[in-house]
Amino acid sequence: MKEKQKSIWVFGDYRNYYQNRVTLQLLSKAVDLARPMNAEVCAVVIGCDIDEWIMEYTAHGADRILAIDHPSLIGYSTEYYLSLVEQLVGQRDPDILLIGATDFGREFAPRLAKRLKTGLSADCVGLDITPEGLLVQIAPSFGGNMLAEIVTEKHRPQMATVRPGTFKEIPHNHERTAIVERLPLPDNLSAPRVRVVEYERAVEREHTIENASVIVCGGRGMGNRNNFKKLKELANLLGGDVGATRPVVYAGWADHGALVGQAGKHIKPKILFSFGISGAIQHTAGLGEANFIVAINKNPQATMMKMADVAISADAGDLLGSLIKELKKRIRE
Ligand SMILES: Cc1cc2nc3c(=O)[nH]c(=O)nc-3n(C[C@H](O)[C@H](O)[C@H](O)COP(=O)(O)OP(=O)(O)OC[C@H]3O[C@@H](n4cnc5c(N)ncnc54)[C@H](O)[C@@H]3O)c2cc1C
Repeated sequence: MKEKQKSIWVFGDYRNYYQNRVTLQLLSKAVDLARPMNAEVCAVVIGCDIDEWIMEYTAHGADRILAIDHPSLIGYSTEYYLSLVEQLVGQRDPDILLIGATDFGREFAPRLAKRLKTGLSADCVGLDITPEGLLVQIAPSFGGNMLAEIVTEKHRPQMATVRPGTFKEIPHNHERTAIVERLPLPDNLSAPRVRVVEYERAVEREHTIENASVIVCGGRGMGNRNNFKKLKELANLLGGDVGATRPVVYAGWADHGALVGQAGKHIKPKILFSFGISGAIQHTAGLGEANFIVAINKNPQATMMKMADVAISADAGDLLGSLIKELKKRIRE
């Protein structure tokens, strides 16, 4: 009997495409993982007028595209999308299914895994393949204090969501080709129970911290909202952007878009200033690609100070004030 073609599926999440490159990053990783498994990389694209994404995913590594293009899929409906992917998986039995850990993926993937009665490793920060062809899903666990290597031995597909920025995308190659299967909308879909009344695009910030080359990041050690606000002044003087830790976001000193770490953004600045941050693993998980780190903390033993290239033992507010003053003076000179 002919052996089943192994396949790695990547769910095409093209919302907010120009900032959100996670699907391309996952395709690139899927190409790596597919090699030892001799598997096919397949992108699943659902929506209305999706040719742009079909071409894009082809150019970024997909061997096959499963496309469902229909006017009734113009807006995202969890129920529709879940039913469609559930049916496709049932028909084709992929070995691995990867989804970006975006707001969308974080809602969609657990529900899909539940329907498929398989496991899901959420927010993975690495993926690998064992010699036996099992997907190693590397994810922070036990509150982020450890990195666990998880394998799904028995159930299929092996599912993982992966944080944006974890992998690098392969450059666009317009000469690549893929098998494009345009599939009909099944007629057994029941009407969704949730109706989206309106979409409104969130106001976009001028630049996102994922792409900033200078980042001034502040933590609880900034003490209060006013001190924290001054980080923006330093960032502006340096042509950079502001990042934050979770307690700061929870306190309302910064918005969620500034959160750096496991539950937020992965950043890759040329230089990172870290003010009053302890260096918990959930935060440092987002700093893997920072080139040069300057940490300011009153506790020289803080993890952040130990991992910094330059560690300054000082009061964060005082040092920030001095730095701003000095920079302004130099700009005037
Ligand atoms: C599932 C999960 C996911 C999480 N995801 C994230 C995430 O994505 N990002 C994230 O950041 N956190 C995340 N966290 C929270 C994380 O565990 C830490 O609690 C958080 O990173 C700590 O933030 P912090 O460094 O600002 O605060 P703290 O740990 O309280 O550290 C404050 C630091 O400031 C220093 N300090 C105090 N006063 C001063 C001063 N006057 N001058 C200079 N230094 C001073 C202290 O010495 C200390 O080192 C997550 C937690 C969980 C459980």
